[in-house]
Amino acid sequence: METASIPNPSIIERQRMNVDIVCVGFGPATAGFLTTLSKQLVNADGTPAVESAAMPGMPPQVLCYERADDIGFGVSGVVTKARALRATFPELDSAQIPMTVPVGEEKVLYLLDPIGASRRSATLRAADAMVRAFKWALPVEHDALNLPWTPSFLHKDGGLILSMGQFMQWVGAQVQSTGTVQIWPGTPLAEVLIEKTTTADDRSAPVPGAAMSDANQASNNKLAEHSNVAAPEDGRTPGRRSKVVGVRLIDQGVDKKGQPSDGFTPGMDIHAALTVVADGPVGPIGQQLDAHFGLPEGHHTRDWAVGMKFVVDLPEDTPLKPGTVLHTFGFPEPEIFGFLYVHPDRVASLGIFVPSWFDSPMRTAYRQLQHWMLHPYLWRYLKGGKLRSWGAKTLGESGRRGEPHLVGDGYARVGEGSGSTNVLTGSGVDEAWATGTQLAEAVIELLKAKKPFTKQNLDETYVKRRHASWVEKEAIVAEKSRDGFQKGVVRGMIGMALAGLTNGKLTLAGDPVPPWKRIPSIEEYYRGRVSPEEIAKLQAECQARNSSLHGALMEKAGWPAIPYDGQLLMSHQDALLMGGKVQAPAGYADHVEFLNPELCEKCGAKICIEACSGQAITLGDAGVPNFDREKCVHCGACVWNCAQPLPDNPERTNIAFRAGTGGLHSAEN
Ligand SMILES: Cc1cc2nc3c(=O)[nH]c(=O)nc-3n(C[C@H](O)[C@H](O)[C@H](O)COP(=O)(O)OP(=O)(O)OC[C@H]3O[C@@H](n4cnc5c(N)ncnc54)[C@H](O)[C@@H]3O)c2cc1C
Ligand code: SF4
Ligand code: SF4
Repeated sequence: METASIPNPSIIERQRMNVDIVCVGFGPATAGFLTTLSKQLVNADGTPAVESAAMPGMPPQVLCYERADDIGFGVSGVVTKARALRATFPELDSAQIPMTVPVGEEKVLYLLDPIGASRRSATLRAADAMVRAFKWALPVEHDALNLPWTPSFLHKDGGLILSMGQFMQWVGAQVQSTGTVQIWPGTPLAEVLIEKTTTADDRSAPVPGAAMSDANQASNNKLAEHSNVAAPEDGRTPGRRSKVVGVRLIDQGVDKKGQPSDGFTPGMDIHAALTVVADGPVGPIGQQLDAHFGLPEGHHTRDWAVGMKFVVDLPEDTPLKPGTVLHTFGFPEPEIFGFLYVHPDRVASLGIFVPSWFDSPMRTAYRQLQHWMLHPYLWRYLKGGKLRSWGAKTLGESGRRGEPHLVGDGYARVGEGSGSTNVLTGSGVDEAWATGTQLAEAVIELLKAKKPFTKQNLDETYVKRRHASWVEKEAIVAEKSRDGFQKGVVRGMIGMALAGLTNGKLTLAGDPVPPWKRIPSIEEYYRGRVSPEEIAKLQAECQARNSSLHGALMEKAGWPAIPYDGQLLMSHQDALLMGGKVQAPAGYADHVEFLNPELCEKCGAKICIEACSGQAITLGDAGVPNFDREKCVHCGACVWNCAQPLPDNPERTNIAFRAGTGGLHSAEN
């Protein structure tokens, strides 16, 4: 490799573009924002309804960058009440959108453990015995109790079952056809550009299209380098003030560590009067803002879940009707929730959520999902089915308590990364969409009034709208609804019911703790089931094969081997290779980094390896894991599933998750 032509990173010159608004990520939140905004930028006669400051005489220039290789490559098949979606599209006809169907029959099922391998508390075992003893009088079939009554807050009647991938393609096409908005998939944003001023004077805030001074690159580089680390400085220090002035695209032609290499192309700086941050629960731009500005007093992001999902062809003779919604709890482990939604044409989305309060060092969603599918209640529907695609994604489940600073000078946050997901009703899409539309209305108001996007102006327009809306009212009800789970599943379920039925007035207490605090050692978790000697032997065998430990350990603890059928039940490796659906273009830096190798060296649980949704993290030399970008499905689970806190910020773990390309290629998810 020729190094003479490779530039020194400290003197890189970057191209720069000025626009009015730049959006980070194209999920439901941005889709709601752009759909609402794009309709109001131009008059019926084609003249600008409001004028661009970046390009005078034109409508405002609006760009959206999406990390994934296509706008429909996100992950989650969803059931949603679709209140916000219908408010935007009052004439919405579900037949127009592939894989969409109105919600039909809804069931909530408590799955008994037919194998006897799950870890159940004494209370749960007693409850199971009661259900079995009285099954002649209860709606029990195939080891599942169909709850005869479920509270209304869990129902999605009148709603829709959607494939998010298909829905996002449908919305994206509509938004782009207005000609006022550009969406660029396959374009991750690496950094937020933050400029510091020395006075707390609103006059220094960015005005649409006004020339902006260069962002403080050194600070940004440092933030990018340690996006999981606490703020290097506080933007709220009296006399100093930070404003967001745009974003930087990811560098291309770099080595794994991000150092310039052959074909180096520095990422362009996009300067904008408003940066709309909608990069979901583990987005790097959101993480950098949190590192810089901190979270509001008392807020945290300690509750999360990893959702893994299959899209399957059901057998030809399936009795399941389109619109069917099944929700489950109780199996394969009591903490794991499951879902099955039936789309038209015998296609179903199904999967599980592995929540933060599942205190197991073997939190592998893929293996748990296979055991869930094999539960007798579900397997009778799935046997003979075929896997079409699959995926995994993290969910931010801290809700309102995870809300960051929603606005600041030059930026606003919407969607799940802004704490919008409702953990009581299990609803994220509608809320994300709603916050996007609220911001769009605020932006139009400010553009029309020719007011700059200052914190104050965004507070008075966007935050005010959001706080007066159903999103906030329902978020207050949901805020503490899941705290009971911190002390067990039975307590958690009772707490949820109490919160839902009393509008959040009554809840059961529990203190969410940082992820690493929850995870016991492997020996502790399997005490009484697998001896430390057997664990050590399995560890040595798995290390010799360089394979993960969870499968061998689960089988030792009583779980049966998975009967692979090559159709629906296949090895994790085969699923990864299926149809070549995981892609990782060359010339980009690794987006997962183990920040302090010395912490990894002494880490016993190595939960990052066991929990990785793509088998992209494997055992490396001297106990420090290896990361393989070509297997990463970008679920973000590793950010949470690390057993070690950062020494200088115990709210964060030893893994950095940065902007990256590639991931899963499927528009069905
Ligand atoms: C398995 C699963 C099942 C679910 N089921 C339901 C359900 O039934 N009902 C429901 O209402 N909700 C459900 N959800 C939750 C729902 O999917 C989320 O609440 C919703 O997608 C949040 O929307 P968002 O736009 O805020 O963020 P996201 O959907 O996370 O979108 C963020 C986008 O930003 C992109 N991005 C991130 N970083 C960058 C970067 N640096 N540069 C450029 N782009 C970037 C990402 O690729 C992504 O496309 C489910 C989630 C999962 C994982
Ligand atoms: S990344 Fe975290 S869980 Fe993985 S080995 Fe390092 S410290 Fe342990
Ligand atoms: S390395 Fe990739 S696939 Fe593995 S947990 Fe992290 S984001 Fe998910």
